[in-house]
Amino acid sequence: MYPTDGIIIEVDNGKEREQFGYTRKYFKGAIALKPKPLIVTSKVINIDYTINSNGLLIPNVEIEPVNLKGKVIRNINCYNINNLLNLEIAVGGLVNIILSGEVIPKIVSANSDGLAVVAPYVCPFCNSKLGEKQSNVFCNNDKCDGIRIAKLKNDLRKYSKGISSKVVEKLL
Ligand SMILES: [Zn+2]
Repeated sequence: MYPTDGIIIEVDNGKEREQFGYTRKYFKGAIALKPKPLIVTSKVINIDYTINSNGLLIPNVEIEPVNLKGKVIRNINCYNINNLLNLEIAVGGLVNIILSGEVIPKIVSANSDGLAVVAPYVCPFCNSKLGEKQSNVFCNNDKCDGIRIAKLKNDLRKYSKGISSKVVEKLL
């Protein structure tokens, strides 16, 4: 078996195909079946943040390990604080997870039974007050260690083709 996001069942006998006929655009002898995405539920243990080279704070939701289609999932990247708040993710609460595009774990809903998440007020890497831009939180401190490391990682990645990001992480 291999992962798929849907199948098409089609009549391929020429004569029968003709009987089904065509709409203006589509052959009528085919139907598309799209299974509902598989959803698993797990508990939120913790939320921590990484920062990118632009100073954007990226929330990472740590969950009790759960198996989804043969993949053990422990951490889910939520991309920005807004996603976290809109979903009302709470520490100790439950989250429903799918594999987006069959690869990337994504939280689709949550119950807010637990410690509600609030947007951080200070940068976890340098403690300076965070700024807000298009409802995302940014660190604007150009001496922020988190941002400097993120920039360094980018540069290392650029100049170290063939070296895995794990090795780059160890160098820092
Ligand atoms: Zn900072």
